[in-house]
Amino acid sequence: MADDIFCKIIRGEVPCYKVYEDEQVLAFLDVSQTTRGHTLVVSKTHYDNFLATPQEVMHKVMDVAQRIGQVQIKMLGAEGVNIISNVYEAAGQSVMHFHVHVIPRYTNDTGLVIEMKNNSEGLNLPALAELIKIE
Ligand code: 5GP
Repeated sequence: MADDIFCKIIRGEVPCYKVYEDEQVLAFLDVSQTTRGHTLVVSKTHYDNFLATPQEVMHKVMDVAQRIGQVQIKMLGAEGVNIISNVYEAAGQSVMHFHVHVIPRYTNDTGLVIEMKNNSEGLNLPALAELIKIE
């Protein structure tokens, strides 16, 4: 049985500041508040990450993430929201249990730095698209 920190929170063995719960989904404040209101939405059943989660469960988690983002705008005065789900260590995943970060953004906040550089030079984009293409 998986026994990561989120499993313990779901079982009530570790406390959290809960913001939503239903049969399949739990949402609570991240212990490390990247910005004010940073919330985690997790599936109660253990799946290692977003890519390993059945579609129906993933949809329920994303539905809750969307609603929390809407509330962060309305109630916290957030001016934007980042929705992030890290998959595997290379992408920054530290808890191997599917979760979505809902991170409210405020103009000039300093908690989260996302820089998407343009590394397109030298890439064969038509061939790349073929490799990634799905039905
Ligand atoms: P990841 O790095 O896997 O994308 O995100 C894991 C998140 O879980 C981190 O942002 C970290 O602060 C949060 N976290 C780790 N342990 C706990 C805990 O015991 N309680 C809460 N509320 N959040 C935690």
